[in-house]
Amino acid sequence: MGKYRPPRTRFYGKGSRRCRRCGSRDAVIQKYGLMLCRQCFREIASSIGFRKYN
Ligand SMILES: [Zn+2]
Repeated sequence: MGKYRPPRTRFYGKGSRRCRRCGSRDAVIQKYGLMLCRQCFREIASSIGFRKYN
């Protein structure tokens, strides 16, 4: 069971996208047109007043 998970659109898309801030290709968030990796997103999010999901 669970041998194969069908491709789905995730919150962050692993692929050819790159973080526009640090150039990382690891878990780049394209949502909201951020184009940032998770780490940069966290840093920038706090600086622009982007709050956590709360
Ligand atoms: Zn980054």
